[in-house]
Amino acid sequence: GATLGVMGGGQLGRMFVQAAQSMGYFTVVLDPDASSPAGLVSHYHLLADYLDAAALAQLAQRCDAITTEFENVPAPALRQLAAQRRVSPDADAVAIAQDRAREKAHFVACGVPCAPHAVIETAAQLAAVSEALLPGILKTARLGYDGKGQIRVTTRAELAAAWAELGNAPCVLEKMLALKAECSVIVARGLDGAMVHFPVQRNLHQGGILAVTEVYEENVSPALARSAVEATESIANGLQYVGVMCVEFFVLQDDSLVVNEMAPRPHNSGHYTIDACDLSQFDLQLRTLTGLPLVAPRQHSPAIMLNLLGDLWFPSGDEAVAPPWRELLALPGAHLHLYGKQQARRGRKMGHLTITGASVAQARATAQQAARQLGLDAF
Ligand code: ATP
Ligand code: MG
Ligand code: MG
Repeated sequence: GATLGVMGGGQLGRMFVQAAQSMGYFTVVLDPDASSPAGLVSHYHLLADYLDAAALAQLAQRCDAITTEFENVPAPALRQLAAQRRVSPDADAVAIAQDRAREKAHFVACGVPCAPHAVIETAAQLAAVSEALLPGILKTARLGYDGKGQIRVTTRAELAAAWAELGNAPCVLEKMLALKAECSVIVARGLDGAMVHFPVQRNLHQGGILAVTEVYEENVSPALARSAVEATESIANGLQYVGVMCVEFFVLQDDSLVVNEMAPRPHNSGHYTIDACDLSQFDLQLRTLTGLPLVAPRQHSPAIMLNLLGDLWFPSGDEAVAPPWRELLALPGAHLHLYGKQQARRGRKMGHLTITGASVAQARATAQQAARQLGLDAF
């Protein structure tokens, strides 16, 4: 059988490996962490840094095609691999997604509106920032995720202090928008440019981290869904993208859409596709990587996904206690996914729970009950 490689060993890599193995592929994961979620379930685990030339040579030698599972894989490593093997997504797309300034420039070039913003790389740019961007959020241009590397500011003095706190690194200041909702769209684009997409996901974030994703028809108006899908398609087309990509959007008070950011990979808001769709986002990642037919996925059940963060392991005090899985698994339509992370830590994504139901009302009621059992906030 063919062998597929993954750069990165997190939960996204783990779920890709599981999808690939279920179709008979052999897998190789490159990750420096010996207990990475994907490394633990892969046939091979190359324990090395992403820029380790010998490890990259070995990965290329062992694999027929290679993909990535997190956006901070160094683009030069992907470029080196691509000299020998099929790599998707490609280094250029990943490089743009890794840099908020370049990412926003790409959105503008595609004609998709994003939040008013300014790039801050120098003290002069800091001084020249328009008042109209305050209150705002200062975000590091690179390496931020789950709300890390972001500071909310209301005054110029706070902005200057925040930039210092972020090490005077290249940043983007975004105007704070009044959000009515957030949503995301996942597309898969093949080598020939053909694209398929999942239904529009509606996302609830808490503390800058995704908490809940709800997906069913009544959830997003048809007009909004259409424009979100069209915007995502033009963003993917503009990159000549090959692979699975997610675009996050803000919905403003007047129902207009503003793009937030893109992820050059499957996305946390698409985990429900494993249990609620006939093809998952990882199945489509596999198909785009291997050139297999891209079939439009069909959602067969309303779905609500609850993220299981490490906080749930610490209901009281400092000793980790596993959440009440038996009770949760007694709920009809509950699908528990745990990523095999040995240490629970606050804010760490440990797993997710997808609730499917025969009707929206039933799925929602079950998900509310699961949230109560877990001690999560109502949604
Ligand atoms: P991810 O883990 O999704 O990559 P991230 O660290 O890149 O997260 P963002 O997506 O930029 O962070 O922001 C996280 C959340 O913060 C958003 O989903 C939204 O809830 C809120 N947020 C970010 N930017 C803005 C803004 N300009 N106005 C209002 N809320 C915002
Ligand atoms: Mg991000
Ligand atoms: Mg985000």
